[in-house]
Amino acid sequence: MENRWSDAEAERFVARYGSGANRNEDIALRVYSSRLIGADPRLVLHGGGNTSVKTRLPDLFGEAVDVLCVKGSGWDLDSIEPPGLPAVRLEPLRRLRGLEALSDEEMVNAQRCNLLDSSAPNPSVETLLHAFLPHAFIDHTHSDAVLALTDQPNGAEICAEVFGDRAALVPYIMPGFALAKKAAEVLEDNPDVEGLILLKHGIFSFGATARDSYDRMISLVSLAETRLAEGRRAVFAPAALPDRMASVADVAPVLRGLTSAVVDPAEGIDRPFVLDFRSGDAVRTYVDGAEVARYGRAGVVTPDHAIRIKPWPMIVPAPAAGGLAAFRDGAAAALAEFQADYAAYFARHNGRDGVEKTALDPMPRVILVPGLGLFGLGKSAKDARIAADLAETTVRTVTDAEAIGRFESIAEGELFDIEYWSLEQAKLGKGAEKPLARRIVAVTGGAGAIGAATARAFAAEGAEIAVLDRDGEAAASVAAEVGGVGIACDVTDPAAVQAAFDAVAARFGGLDILVSNAGAAWQGTIGEVDDAVLRASFELNFFAHQTVAKAALAILRAQGKGGCLLFNASKQAVNPGPDFGPYGLPKAAALFLMRQYAVDHGGEGIRANAVNADRIRSGLLTDEMVADRARARGVSEDAYLSGNLLGREVTAADVAQAFLALALARKTTGAVLTVDGGNIAAAPR
Ligand code: ZN
Repeated sequence: MENRWSDAEAERFVARYGSGANRNEDIALRVYSSRLIGADPRLVLHGGGNTSVKTRLPDLFGEAVDVLCVKGSGWDLDSIEPPGLPAVRLEPLRRLRGLEALSDEEMVNAQRCNLLDSSAPNPSVETLLHAFLPHAFIDHTHSDAVLALTDQPNGAEICAEVFGDRAALVPYIMPGFALAKKAAEVLEDNPDVEGLILLKHGIFSFGATARDSYDRMISLVSLAETRLAEGRRAVFAPAALPDRMASVADVAPVLRGLTSAVVDPAEGIDRPFVLDFRSGDAVRTYVDGAEVARYGRAGVVTPDHAIRIKPWPMIVPAPAAGGLAAFRDGAAAALAEFQADYAAYFARHNGRDGVEKTALDPMPRVILVPGLGLFGLGKSAKDARIAADLAETTVRTVTDAEAIGRFESIAEGELFDIEYWSLEQAKLGKGAEKPLARRIVAVTGGAGAIGAATARAFAAEGAEIAVLDRDGEAAASVAAEVGGVGIACDVTDPAAVQAAFDAVAARFGGLDILVSNAGAAWQGTIGEVDDAVLRASFELNFFAHQTVAKAALAILRAQGKGGCLLFNASKQAVNPGPDFGPYGLPKAAALFLMRQYAVDHGGEGIRANAVNADRIRSGLLTDEMVADRARARGVSEDAYLSGNLLGREVTAADVAQAFLALALARKTTGAVLTVDGGNIAAAPR
């Protein structure tokens, strides 16, 4: 492993973070080398690992106090800032070591009570371990390479041989007071070591300076890497797989539908996951292996993964091309087995310590799909990505472990203790979800005024957004703004539409809501206008709505959990304006199309609704057109735009709110919602 320390870079951190309130050079260097460690996924991932520095900071009276600045919860090492290293008074922490026992709650309380800043985040659950060791700088990682050595039946033996007298071994104990005491004892027995190997957990390194501690981490991890490179054997002989596999886009919605928990069957309310797919040589070798049920379900590579990805993944049959029905049945059986196993695991361990726990949801967070790859599942795209990242780390670590021996995790009861540990559950975050959390939304014409406003409005309510637009760059720019994905798509090209919806399903696992918004206004006096103009308008303003709705419907049906189709109609669809026939005619047909979807697919829980907007400044109603029309009516532009019952201009954001209202109106289908500030002459009868 490359040592990436740079004196010049370290100096830049000192210049930037070395002074100011509750800062000093130690903290600046602590931030620098924490980030070096955090930047390498082979060392730490997503909140895993922690670092600390013992230094002195002034209290309110200006007196220097010995403090431990240790990673706070909610911070990742790769982006840590000084506030992510809350300062805790060191002496009171050290005194705790004299106690016989200390509950987790007492430990957290003691840590919080000794913060210099009462509003600081909770110090890491491994704070006491940092406090009880004497070194100024301490680094803790869950290095893949170290885990591959220690996650073995004879891991202690292998580690003793590899690290010699450079690192001492600490037996597996759940993080907390007992582990902190044990680690301190081990160090006292081996005062000259550069680090500690926490069996089946990770590695600590320490030193007098930030550089010392970092150098030792890299050097010890490199020893592990060297050992892993020696005497490897080929692993994971492949199982027999179908000649041709189904696509990720076909498989993902099936899995998403199956794993969507039904919250209220009578009301049709469910709770789906967002999916994140991973593949590649290492993943494929792992999931395609004939023995995947053995090593794939053998437990997590380091304890804190259990809270995010459960003790083991779900493994489904290989999905053959053209065999989706059989795949669905096989996956349903795999899920039933996963849930039965999870219930039995819960029953075996619940109440062992005299405390009755509430069972967590019995849904997998990782799904292994032989012949394809793996999926991470989460309540948001971000959580799904974290689950997939942890799964990829598991693949790497278990592969290495099996190449030199046999992968072995902590015991099942220890997995349970971690998964149901209140301090770890806190990492997952609580609180009510936003109304559209877990929902995947595709918006066509997503880079236009109404499309972009709609993407923003849905994202603000928690949805994951796919922005489809003919202009791929513009789509990407709106997508970046809302944290979604941008896809170039000409909705009048059926092949492009299919490819775009495949991309949405492959990216997020499926779809819940379509906003079919793309459109353009053609004009001409009916009876005079060229048929070619009419046909061009029908292609975009009618057939494209049908093409995207059909592609969306296929995904919704594969999930089997209902869904929502929303169409951008227009005032022209019900109230023709002079010379706007080429625009209004296909829009009228699109309105009817919406109702036909409502009629034909209501039984599947699929709703279809439309928004009927008027006089919105956008790509269809350009500034130039506003000026022309205002002139023709002899009024100002403002008067033209606010020429409605409310006397207020209606904006793209208002249209977006109407789409949102229809998406949330769970028992509304076949409806048209008018957004025009009030125009009784154009009101549908
Ligand atoms: Zn740890």
